[in-house]
Amino acid sequence: MEPMKLSISFPIPDLATASDHEIEGLFPSFDGRWSSQTKALLAQHGVERLDLDGNWASVPPMWRCGSCGRYKAELARLSDVGVLICRLDWHHDHLRDHGKKILKRKGARPSEPEALRRWFSAVETCKDLIERFHPSFVCVDCNAADGEAKRKLKGIVHPDFSFSPAEIATFITIQPGRPHKVDADKAEEIWKSVEDDVLDRIAFAELLAARVADGRHQRQGRKLWPEPPLGPLLRDLSRNPTYPAIPLLQLPSILSSRSLKNDGFRSSLKVRTKPVRVPSQAEFETFTAAQDPKSPWVWVDAGWTCPGCDRSRFECLRESGKNKLSGRLHQFYVYSDEDDYDALRWRNGWNEGGVTYGGHAVVFLCQDCRLVVTDTNKTLTAPSEDCLRIEDLRVLVGDAAPHTRPQVDLEAAQALAEDNFEHVDAARIYWEHRSAARAVLNHYTELTKWRGVDRETAMWIVLEKVGRLDLEDRELPGLLDFMLAEGARFAAQDEASRSDRRTAGTGGAQ
Ligand SMILES: [Zn+2]
Ligand SMILES: [Zn+2]
Ligand SMILES: [Zn+2]
Repeated sequence: MEPMKLSISFPIPDLATASDHEIEGLFPSFDGRWSSQTKALLAQHGVERLDLDGNWASVPPMWRCGSCGRYKAELARLSDVGVLICRLDWHHDHLRDHGKKILKRKGARPSEPEALRRWFSAVETCKDLIERFHPSFVCVDCNAADGEAKRKLKGIVHPDFSFSPAEIATFITIQPGRPHKVDADKAEEIWKSVEDDVLDRIAFAELLAARVADGRHQRQGRKLWPEPPLGPLLRDLSRNPTYPAIPLLQLPSILSSRSLKNDGFRSSLKVRTKPVRVPSQAEFETFTAAQDPKSPWVWVDAGWTCPGCDRSRFECLRESGKNKLSGRLHQFYVYSDEDDYDALRWRNGWNEGGVTYGGHAVVFLCQDCRLVVTDTNKTLTAPSEDCLRIEDLRVLVGDAAPHTRPQVDLEAAQALAEDNFEHVDAARIYWEHRSAARAVLNHYTELTKWRGVDRETAMWIVLEKVGRLDLEDRELPGLLDFMLAEGARFAAQDEASRSDRRTAGTGGAQ
């Protein structure tokens, strides 16, 4: 018998076409380029260009910074090139990551599935005991003040220490339209007053780590993540052709594209005094002809501009050393968020939440922007190709003048890179997932196609290396299908980019 259908008519606003006024009325808990406050701020600063990020959009217009106490209206800042910057930072206690490292280091990670699950539960439980404050949004000035204070107190404060929002408030002086002034002496006082507590927590983490490694603090079963009741219902309905709920599920991403704005976020550059040698068009052509035809400098689109500094290829060509010209392009990855519910579940399992990347695109940076990444990595304890994002480069490189190497504030670069820990982690995990998925697909094909192994046996063999010991046996066929589909998706991407490069390569070499 057919299930009885209850017909509820539920009009969903069309967020793509709704007026700004309607959006504002519908979503008082959010903010965006549509809000009357944002518009008033643009008018007040006499500009139209806006850089409004997802953090800013996720809290209401009346939000105020938990550290300096300023309202959004005071936080919006005009950049030197006339863009209104509306951004917030996510500030968290780095001590938590430090504690996690200690807990995992000492733990001789068990390999048997049930033992690993229990060991992991112990790590999860204990790491919360090390954090000094809950993560929260703070204004960019307060987050930067935390970084600046730590840099000024380098060698004094513990390298993984973070000042809490309340502590930051005690050592900053608010300056309208400019970054906070940081009083290093006051910051040091704060550190002295909490030093005992911090070191005690670290010692406690060591103690806990030894106990966890001994098999203590374990918990049976699996943690169920609480979800608002509507979430799982909508997810199921969204896959059901009779009761499609897809439009409802898409609301968050449609709202976000209505709310955010990215007109460029950059500050200006100190003026260089050294005269700039501008190469001639003929020099540019001679230089280009002398390059390896396979190098992106030669075959990149004629309209290319560097995503970090906005300069054209010609503008990036500069003198280096004695009358020699140099110019190169370097590959750089830009990642996109995974937003498929199933994929997120298969990817993250117990460790839900946080940033998960599902794809990447290749862009090309000029040599100067690439050098910023290289130089920043020299300041980091854990260097990474992904230490800076394009947005960061745009801030750091600013309005780079043509034909010269821009001057970059490496301290600022280091601060931005240190705040990118989630991004760096997510990128690393993405590449691991990518190669795992491709390996699963290859191995599985080899076993089932060429060696006559049945699906069940092949599944056990290929999933062994994926190491998802948190999953129940009955979930493994689902994981296998997911990994095979991912493997095929990545293989197709790699094939497409190989043939792109081939076409581009021959095109440029003509
Ligand atoms: Zn603040
Ligand atoms: Zn921070
Ligand atoms: Zn550049």
